[in-house]
Amino acid sequence: SRPITSLSLLLLLLGLCHTCLLTEGSEPGYYNNENESTGARILAANSKAHENLIEGDILEPSNIVTRNAKCKSECLWKKSRSGSVKVPYKISNEYSPAERQLIESAMADFRKRTCIQFVPWKNQEDYISIENGDGCFSSVGRVGGRQRLSLKRRGCMKLGIIQHEFIHALGFYHEQSRSDRDKYVRINWQNIKEKHKKNFNKHDTHNLDTPYDYGSIMHYGKHTFAIDRAKETIIPIPDASVEIGQRKKMSKYDISKINHLYNCFKRKTRFL
Ligand SMILES: [Zn+2]
Repeated sequence: SRPITSLSLLLLLLGLCHTCLLTEGSEPGYYNNENESTGARILAANSKAHENLIEGDILEPSNIVTRNAKCKSECLWKKSRSGSVKVPYKISNEYSPAERQLIESAMADFRKRTCIQFVPWKNQEDYISIENGDGCFSSVGRVGGRQRLSLKRRGCMKLGIIQHEFIHALGFYHEQSRSDRDKYVRINWQNIKEKHKKNFNKHDTHNLDTPYDYGSIMHYGKHTFAIDRAKETIIPIPDASVEIGQRKKMSKYDISKINHLYNCFKRKTRFL
């Protein structure tokens, strides 16, 4: 019926990466030193946002997957003649000057290492609106028109978390959802609630000639979505002690993947 269709379309357009919400409030170092109270706080804070986003179970993750599995060109940001990719952004005035500076320094890093240039919004049709929403989340790729990228002031103001969300906005999923992940990690399904299992689906990703990257800023941590937080949900194989889930900064392969996806190599400067 019509109301349901328009609501589901709206949610699809929002295309929010709700699966991120339960992980991205984490502090750097979270993957090293699981802290029960930190984890509980994050889950409590984000479950609220989670409900808002998928209220009514209309936005199934498969809808997002279908759209983005085909994210070959239509959901990429457009390339200018000079070879750079200009991504317009607008930052909410709710942020303090220091927070604004942090967000801008996260963006500046992309300019240094890739052909992505975040540029202040000047009425371009498609742009990222950076807002103090109720969690850390983003759409995957360019959605069209204004798209929200939420960076909650309390919880998301970390360089790595900000970059993680921008990488979603550039068109990337989480690393452990790669099509080839089963060779590199084992998912401990018994430790994941039924309703969260969909967050561990594999996607038909383009892996862009890069090896599986345990050090990716887009990788979940070992205990993400765990029922029993003393046990893992993702176990690296063959060496279970390999660290995953860092939120410090983009890895060299994160940078490399962006450069591949946007074909940044045809410039004088080679990145990576
Ligand atoms: Zn994410």
